[in-house]
Amino acid sequence: MASEENFMRAPAPSPKRTIYTEAMEIFHRAADLIGLDKRVRLELEEPDYEHIFYVTAKLKDRLVPLAPEEAKAFSDLSVTQVRNPDGLERLADGKIILNGRALLGSDVNIRRGHLRLPDGGVYQLVPGESQRFKAYRVQHNQARGPYKGGIRYHREVSLDLFKALAAEMTWKTAIAEVPFGGGKGGIQIDPRQYGREELENITLRFMYKLKSLIGPSIDIPAPDVGTNGDIMALMLRQYSDGERERHNMRGIVTGKDVRIGGSEGRVKATGQGVAYCIEDFYSERNETLRGKTFTMQGFGNVGSNGASILAGMGARLLAVNDADGSIFNGDGIDVPSLIAYVNDPKNLKKSVAGFPGAQRIEKKDLWEISADMLIPAALGGEITADVAERLKVKLIAEGANGPTTPEADRVLQKRGIDLIPDIIANAGGVTVSYYEWIQNKRMERWSESEVDQRLEKAMKRNYRIIRDISRNQPRKTDMHDSRAYCLGKTVDPRCAAMILALKRIEAHYLIEGFSQ
Ligand code: NAD
Repeated sequence: MASEENFMRAPAPSPKRTIYTEAMEIFHRAADLIGLDKRVRLELEEPDYEHIFYVTAKLKDRLVPLAPEEAKAFSDLSVTQVRNPDGLERLADGKIILNGRALLGSDVNIRRGHLRLPDGGVYQLVPGESQRFKAYRVQHNQARGPYKGGIRYHREVSLDLFKALAAEMTWKTAIAEVPFGGGKGGIQIDPRQYGREELENITLRFMYKLKSLIGPSIDIPAPDVGTNGDIMALMLRQYSDGERERHNMRGIVTGKDVRIGGSEGRVKATGQGVAYCIEDFYSERNETLRGKTFTMQGFGNVGSNGASILAGMGARLLAVNDADGSIFNGDGIDVPSLIAYVNDPKNLKKSVAGFPGAQRIEKKDLWEISADMLIPAALGGEITADVAERLKVKLIAEGANGPTTPEADRVLQKRGIDLIPDIIANAGGVTVSYYEWIQNKRMERWSESEVDQRLEKAMKRNYRIIRDISRNQPRKTDMHDSRAYCLGKTVDPRCAAMILALKRIEAHYLIEGFSQ
């Protein structure tokens, strides 16, 4: 970066390397290459607003399983016959929430706060306490429209992470050509350790505190890791509760259930967008997805929908790693069966681990499987330089946000592994979120094929512009026009995507000017 710009910045940036500074490396690289206007650079370098606040909730009583050693002291404790087993809610950590009057009317045999359930296990009854959770909303930039970005419920979140993800949304909305800026937020929580009603209360309280900071034309959340349409429904309700014009507020969140104003095609949109990019990557080489093989990390919304669409196009899924295990089948994993297995209510962790149609492998083995493609669809920072050295794939299509570290990027380039960068590959979600928002504004309802057709055009048009920038091939076709973006020299695809974003954002500042 030019030293003159360092001199202009106040206060001086901390030299400490963080997730945020790492994520911004590519921004600085592209900004240097295009000679981004200096004031625009300062505007984009840090978020507009960083909100940190706290949410409290009263938790429910829990039955906590005893380890077999401890349970021996209760070997003569007879079984409690539970009259209303529906009131017991089993969590992924083995604990059980007592909902409503779960034990009312049952013959409860309790000794020193312990009881035995029909499953044979001894549990300690632990009264519910109040707990405090840290919550965030980072609003990065709104030059192109309202802040837009997901809500993440995960144990490992931080201000730096949300800053990085919010900035990514600013780039992504510009690349997708939707009239939004970038935002991101969420709660530091492992949602799998809490019951349905507890998560409801936490979400309602979160929105109660968020309400004054956001709005359908100010900042529009959507689902991300650990959240889904049910959480969005709660956020919508809490935002619009008691408002006289609540029907005009449906656009406060996207990713809603289609029955309450969501868009057809939104749930699968991110996976669909990844698939459209991959299809376009191969079609340029006069190839199709038929017979191609892929491996995947993460089998949640993006992973499972992406896998299902790619399999529908004729590709074969060889291996999956998620938070709780890894599986492999050299003949191909049957994707619909795997989705059914993960979504089975008995599969409390919603994990691919234990899937009968594949063999168990170690996480490290995933990276060494020979396949045409790898689709990271879990968390950021997973493809490190070391992993990049071991990969035996030809193409990486980034479904996840920020899965590849800057060092790994350099290794991938050196090794000639092709890359479809996250800010275009996973832009399908925010693109269909925009369609949902428009439908809410206009009180319209579009069909799935209408949504898919628009998405396909939008994804492929912008991906082609990025490829042209990368190869320095300015041209205008029926589908796209890359002439305003090419630099006169070639750049790597990630940098090309960032150049497209920055040129589109910069235009707003240069043409509209800066408000005082
Ligand atoms: P999700 O919560 O539905 O699924 C996350 C998946 O990642 C799960 O399978 C989980 O087991 C796995 N995972 C979590 N921690 C892991 C770990 N340490 N190692 C391996 N696997 C792990 O989330 P999602 O909505 O599918 O999002 C996945 C990624 O895609 C995230 O990076 C998210 O930011 C990005 N993304 C999501 C959307 C969207 O529309 N949902 C849009 C754009 C980008």
